[in-house]
Amino acid sequence: MQHLQLRKEIIHTARSFMPLGLGVGTAGNVSGRVRDGFLITPSGVAYGRLRPAHLVLMAGSGAVRGGALKPSSEWRFHRDIYAARPEVRAIVHVHSPFATAIACTRRGIPAFHYMVAVAGGDSIRCAPYATFGTQALSSRAVRALRQRSSCLLANHGQIALGEDLPSALKVALEVEELAKQYWLANLFAKPVTLGRREMRKIVGKFRNYGRQGV
Ligand code: 13P
Ligand code: ZN
Repeated sequence: MQHLQLRKEIIHTARSFMPLGLGVGTAGNVSGRVRDGFLITPSGVAYGRLRPAHLVLMAGSGAVRGGALKPSSEWRFHRDIYAARPEVRAIVHVHSPFATAIACTRRGIPAFHYMVAVAGGDSIRCAPYATFGTQALSSRAVRALRQRSSCLLANHGQIALGEDLPSALKVALEVEELAKQYWLANLFAKPVTLGRREMRKIVGKFRNYGRQGV
């Protein structure tokens, strides 16, 4: 079977959502870039039942190239993100509880903590609301993701990007943790945000962070 290793990795990533607290049921979807397209989870299939043959192979145009099942209803934003962002090789979309709760206020996450820089800038934007599975949602998500590896989707959830599946999943987890911390801080008092210059410095430091050569 073509791309067997990537298929297994996509299934492993989707199955990790529930134990990691990133969502329940069939919420969310996962994809990985291949030459001339991407592999994506099928729509509405329980992750525990997923087998490598269930994944849908799509061309860069969004045409189905392989697989008997219907692709994720969000295939448009996966397609459009791969087209707009050549460095992205994996996409994770989840309805994780804290990120989703904040997204329901239609607000993003400001630089209340320096770790917001893991998403590439001084904020994590929230894409304006559009119905799930639509081209409008895709266009809004691509815009909210400009120079970022994460965005929230109003009244919906979050999207995380990476150069591979483990890094996209890591971004989704970091964003969920930040959303939780932001929520908690707001219960206590209005958090103090870090300035643009400080955040630019941190984004720069993150370029080398964790590069231990091991
Ligand atoms: P799919 O099962 O079609 O991927 O839909 C889940 C989802 O999260 C839609 O936004
Ligand atoms: Zn969703």
